Amino acid sequence: MSVEALARFRAMHKGDVITPEDGRYDQARRVWNAMIDKRPALIARPRTPSDVVEAVRFARANNLAVAVRGGAHSIAGRSTCDDGIVIDFCDMTAIRVDARAKTAVAEAGARWQDFDRETQAHGLATTGGTVGDTGIAGLTLGGGFGWLEGRFGMTVDNLLAADVVLANGDRIRASASENPDLFWALRGGGGNFGIVTSFTYQLHDVGPLVIGGLVIHPFPRAAEVLAFYNEFMRTAPDELVAAAVLMTAPDGNKACAIALCYSGDVSTGEKIVAPLKAFGAPVVDLIGPMPYTAQQGLLDQAMPPNLLNYWKAEFVRELTPDVIATAVEAYASVPSPISSLLFFPIRGAASRVAPDATAFPHRGGFHTGIYSLWTDPSHNNANIAWVRQTWSSLQPLIAGGVYVNELGDDEGVDRVLLAYGGNFERLSRIKAAYDPDNIFCLNANIAPSAPA
Ligand SMILES: Cc1cc2nc3c(=O)[nH]c(=O)nc-3n(C[C@H](O)[C@H](O)[C@H](O)COP(=O)(O)OP(=O)(O)OC[C@H]3O[C@@H](n4cnc5c(N)ncnc54)[C@H](O)[C@@H]3O)c2cc1C
Repeated sequence: MSVEALARFRAMHKGDVITPEDGRYDQARRVWNAMIDKRPALIARPRTPSDVVEAVRFARANNLAVAVRGGAHSIAGRSTCDDGIVIDFCDMTAIRVDARAKTAVAEAGARWQDFDRETQAHGLATTGGTVGDTGIAGLTLGGGFGWLEGRFGMTVDNLLAADVVLANGDRIRASASENPDLFWALRGGGGNFGIVTSFTYQLHDVGPLVIGGLVIHPFPRAAEVLAFYNEFMRTAPDELVAAAVLMTAPDGNKACAIALCYSGDVSTGEKIVAPLKAFGAPVVDLIGPMPYTAQQGLLDQAMPPNLLNYWKAEFVRELTPDVIATAVEAYASVPSPISSLLFFPIRGAASRVAPDATAFPHRGGFHTGIYSLWTDPSHNNANIAWVRQTWSSLQPLIAGGVYVNELGDDEGVDRVLLAYGGNFERLSRIKAAYDPDNIFCLNANIAPSAPA
């Protein structure tokens, strides 16, 4: 990249361009997971879709790797790179709600906390992430589980359209009626096919109050709590989405929590969740009516930015006694109190969508996240080893699938295939049509299929 080429790019690109000489560079290159420490050649912060086109053309002309950054939450650090260009959407965050049509158009740098605030101002919402500073972009493109999925499906099931900049610089729209093959692929195929500049979502009447919060049980009762939870969820209505988590409580004791959201009528919800509140002898019961926006912030403090992270994920079909015993035994030896082991069901409306209706194929079971978070780099090995051992011990019990958005950076092609499941070949053909040179490869990558 010559000085002249960079100067020409700066002249064409309305948004900020940050290079290593810039005082803001070290802050600008940081991503959510502090294990990731990459040094891009430049960070472009587009203000318009035309800026994104300029950035793609500049990257291609100068043989730069292209990383695309929404909320920077990729645990694998896929929204940054060494020596290439990061197209960082942090200055494109506008959210426009059409309350009458119950739709929202959000630019690709928006976070769920902003999206929820804007949509709840109209009593509306759609299924989104459970931690507020997660980006809408990466989460949507990978699938998107969340508290509303039982009623309204995954985030991808609520995507109506996307505006996309392709690898050749063309700008197109993808929806059920415009480029439907691309639209299908965007709903679970990650950032493989192009750069989405804005997303259009279907919204629904939600809140302002829901039944939300969590109940925390002492760790010695974890196996009973998980077994009860598994049974309870079998017959729970779509309005209820509840997750079970092995964690360390604020008092420093290990614990088993059930966090939930009942998003239908509040008085009905109180009756529905009553058995969950009555079960056992919880040390804390924080379940009750609360604003949907508060529910959406419930887990924010449990997952703060800038910590060291190592994660592995898997799907299990149900919480059998073996799965429960294995998980509880594993959590008993967790090295960091910030780490957790999460079971989040894919249920209700999210589970009634055919696996090939969108590119996201995992329409049932429990997303199982083994999450190490810690602060001291000298503990890296112990925390990484705990995740790997826990994951290995669960292997005989798994359903055979993994959430693409929680693949680590050390996972190979086999795991990528498991993430896309039976949709991989179709995705690979669509990749060949839209990005034949694999310009967008910093993701759970789908190689373009060879021409038939
Ligand atoms: C604390 C935390 C909580 C989470 N909670 C949930 C949850 O509740 N539900 C859930 O489903 N997932 C959850 N996840 C996983 C989450 O879906 C992924 O981390 C996702 O990648 C986050 O999106 P992002 O925009 O923040 O990520 P980024 O790191 O910015 O991007 C992730 C990937 O998407 C690509 N990408 C980003 N923007 C674009 C774009 N505009 N166009 C094309 N490609 C793009 C990137 O290139 C990269 O490959 C969570 C993750 C974390 C760290």
